[in-house]
Amino acid sequence: VYGFSGANVAVLGLGRSGLATARALRAGDATPICWDDNPAAREAAEGEGFTCRDLHKQGGFDDVASLIVSPGIPHLYPTPNPVVRAALDAGVPVDNDIGLFFRSVATSQWDNFERIPQIVAVTGSNGKSTTVALLHHILESAGKEVQMAGNIGRGVLDIDPPGDGGIVVLELSSYQTELARSMTPDVAVFTNLSPDHLDRHAGLGGYFAAKRRLFAEGGPDRAVIGVDEDEGVFLAGQLSMGAADDRVIRVSSGRKLAGVGWNVFARKGFLSEYRKGRQAGSIDLRQMTGLPGAHNHQNACAAYAAARTLGLAPRMIEGALETYPGLPHRSQTIAEVDGVRFVNDSKATNVDSAVKALSAFKKVRWICGGLEKDGGLEALKGQTGNVQKAYVIGREAANFAMQLDVEAEVCGDMARAVEQAIADAQEGETVLLAPAAASFDQYDSFEKRGDDFIAEVEKRLK
Ligand code: ADP
Repeated sequence: VYGFSGANVAVLGLGRSGLATARALRAGDATPICWDDNPAAREAAEGEGFTCRDLHKQGGFDDVASLIVSPGIPHLYPTPNPVVRAALDAGVPVDNDIGLFFRSVATSQWDNFERIPQIVAVTGSNGKSTTVALLHHILESAGKEVQMAGNIGRGVLDIDPPGDGGIVVLELSSYQTELARSMTPDVAVFTNLSPDHLDRHAGLGGYFAAKRRLFAEGGPDRAVIGVDEDEGVFLAGQLSMGAADDRVIRVSSGRKLAGVGWNVFARKGFLSEYRKGRQAGSIDLRQMTGLPGAHNHQNACAAYAAARTLGLAPRMIEGALETYPGLPHRSQTIAEVDGVRFVNDSKATNVDSAVKALSAFKKVRWICGGLEKDGGLEALKGQTGNVQKAYVIGREAANFAMQLDVEAEVCGDMARAVEQAIADAQEGETVLLAPAAASFDQYDSFEKRGDDFIAEVEKRLK
């Protein structure tokens, strides 16, 4: 990997991406010096033959060329990480696996690469994974050699060497874009912005700034920007060199964007593409049954636009949208019994994503609650018109329920919530898990929460 042959490189955090980084460094003749505050993680690294060193200790960075930090580690907010601080004090450059990956690809210094792959990078608050998985499916359907990495799938330094014409689609969180020293994708996608992870970015401005770094000068050749919020409008305007600029594609769900420039939007179940004032493509999204709701139409527009920048024809994309199998825990229909649909959207961990999920169905029995995010529940006000009743889970269920402007039953755990929702549900209604909260008060992850929902539903429908 990039320029570190023969050097010591510190790796902080030994989860999936940290270990992949250590392996890549070793393969590139660098020596990874590993640390994780968790002894079990260190043991796993040592089991693979890596050297661990307590980087908190005085002089820990004396012989180190760079520090690579895992995305799970808050480096500056809410409190500065002492190891990161020590590296900075010692004048050691701090980076992450994403920065390392881009610099290695750009300079073809990663021995693994036979050819320089095309890289698409997707960031935003919501819809990243769906957009990435959808684009992956579209490209694969078109016969391209494509891999997903980053937040979804494998660590970036863990991918197979792409062959001729290979494409890598990356999902990048704000944590990753904030720290990477270099990001030069061929195409960068910004889905949308809503409050999330504000504690780690010192507020919304910091959070937006972290995401915007992906679009900095010298960054992507092409940008696909969701313009349904002011931030997206601003970003697209800032990147565009004028009305005829083909470098920026604006994407909207609900708003007609037919003016000059390159635009893709969804309205009334149809996707339209306009380029320089002329219609260039149109797709009936109502066939796309795996992706219900306006928010998923936004994701479809973003994936469509990215695929267009890579030279795919609209017809090809249309076929792939119809066969998209979906991702678990995102708008995932798990059963339909006696006219009642059961949908697992456990990934709706913030208020905005839950609001979007609610709006995709008509009459909803809504299972929600969990660990509240920093932005609070204020943005739910007036957005729950489709809800027949809420069934609230979580350790703070009573407090959560009190803040809702719909009839809400404090259930506490999933078993009770599912039981009550099934007892109340009428034909034509949807029982929807869209928590608007993180899962960590009751579960290890949103996946475990979704699995629990599925298990509780299946048990009762037998
Ligand atoms: P991310 O990877 O950005 O977290 P996902 O595709 O995993 O995004 O979707 C996360 C949740 O956000 C889903 O459960 C869904 O309810 C909601 N969601 C998906 N796409 C959008 C969108 N474009 N806008 C708002 N919410 C969305």
